[in-house]
Amino acid sequence: MDLTLPQGHVELRERVRAFVEREVRPKATEREKRRDPLARFPWDIVEAAAAEGLLTLTLRTEHGGGGADELAQALVLEELSAGDMGIAQVLRAQFVYTELFNVVATDAQRARFLPELLENPRCVLAGAMTEPETGSDHSLPYDGVEGGPHTTAVREGDRYRLNGRKTLITSGGVARYYFIWARTDPSVAPRQGTSWFLVPHDTPGLRVGHVYDKLGQRLATNAELIFEDCVIPAGNRFGAHDGAASLGIHSNPALGAAQAIGVARGAYEAALARARWRVQGGRPIIEHPQVAALLAEMAIGLEAARTLVWRSCTTPDPGGMVSLLGMMAKVHATEMAAEVTRRAIQVFGGYGVTEEYPVEKFFRDAATLFHPAAATNQVMLQKIAARLPDDETLSPHLRAASCRYVGEPA
Ligand SMILES: Cc1cc2nc3c(=O)[nH]c(=O)nc-3n(C[C@H](O)[C@H](O)[C@H](O)COP(=O)(O)OP(=O)(O)OC[C@H]3O[C@@H](n4cnc5c(N)ncnc54)[C@H](O)[C@@H]3O)c2cc1C
Repeated sequence: MDLTLPQGHVELRERVRAFVEREVRPKATEREKRRDPLARFPWDIVEAAAAEGLLTLTLRTEHGGGGADELAQALVLEELSAGDMGIAQVLRAQFVYTELFNVVATDAQRARFLPELLENPRCVLAGAMTEPETGSDHSLPYDGVEGGPHTTAVREGDRYRLNGRKTLITSGGVARYYFIWARTDPSVAPRQGTSWFLVPHDTPGLRVGHVYDKLGQRLATNAELIFEDCVIPAGNRFGAHDGAASLGIHSNPALGAAQAIGVARGAYEAALARARWRVQGGRPIIEHPQVAALLAEMAIGLEAARTLVWRSCTTPDPGGMVSLLGMMAKVHATEMAAEVTRRAIQVFGGYGVTEEYPVEKFFRDAATLFHPAAATNQVMLQKIAARLPDDETLSPHLRAASCRYVGEPA
């Protein structure tokens, strides 16, 4: 199995690494300390990212975008996250919701919305599923009528009227366009009775509610969106009426895992550098076996997680919308990042918890990754377990037919 990256991917990774060194790292640490979440949103970095083609990186080439495949997206998100998790999160939401333009939009919708996406360097996209009462219920195969969104979209001739409330939405308060998951028929389960709608930020009846301040990824906003008789043209519905379940949008949770790897790698690199020059007991601390072991454990975690991400991004997903390997990668990498950033703080000694050194920021950023990227880790573990033992994307030696346990009756 060859894990050598194609040349085009290597070049993209180098380009984004240079972008992070130039545009992200020098600004992120100071910027994330600002109190007001909307005021600290890094429009200058977003504009620079647009100039690099990153805002439209995943739009298909026939529509004028970069046409990046999942492996390329994972590489980009790892690099961005090693610089700043907030900007990486803004870009991941952009990648996920660009998929609606790739896969679902009609020609008329592309003609209406893509020129702005391609030309406006501030054309940030966001997507809203989570509501105050329903979080994980969106991600589970929950067939009760009460599951799924409570936000309603009622058809009135050639318009829809939206009412309801979304929460914790990445890029809430700064996005130009919001993709909203809403109930078109509240009398049936969400699989049958929901659709996606595109709502421009300045639509009457849409307002931004509370903008959360948070522990990490502080350059990204997370906000409430409130819909009060918000009327949009029927032409802003993406896919069929009652048709959300049939859209087949693919969002691989391995992209969230790639973010976790980036933040863990940033912490590992800082810890390694520190361990080489910090002298205690007459020698660099890396020569003390317990410090060396901390670094070795960090390196193992990173390599294992990256292997799973790259494998997920290059394995077809016959199992449906959410890749099994992608979920494994996300759970593994986010838990790994929490551990690696914690170890990095230990390598830094007492200085590790001070704001003068970078590892406390990586530690905080790592803590923000358990919930987003398709579902919480607990929900993903349930979904992974449900697909064991015979899913086609499992390694053959993990499938039931190949397993023999000691004591198993013949
Ligand atoms: C940084 C960040 C960015 C986000 N960005 C977006 C965004 O852009 N768009 C969007 O729509 N949402 C976004 N979210 C929201 C995110 O999708 C939700 O937080 C997540 O789905 C969990 O929902 P909840 O917070 O309501 O938690 P709950 O669903 O209330 O879960 C609370 C706890 O209970 C566990 N739990 C719940 N149900 C079960 C179950 N059946 N079995 C076992 N355990 C269970 C969960 O794992 C969790 O540990 C974001 C969240 C964060 C933190």
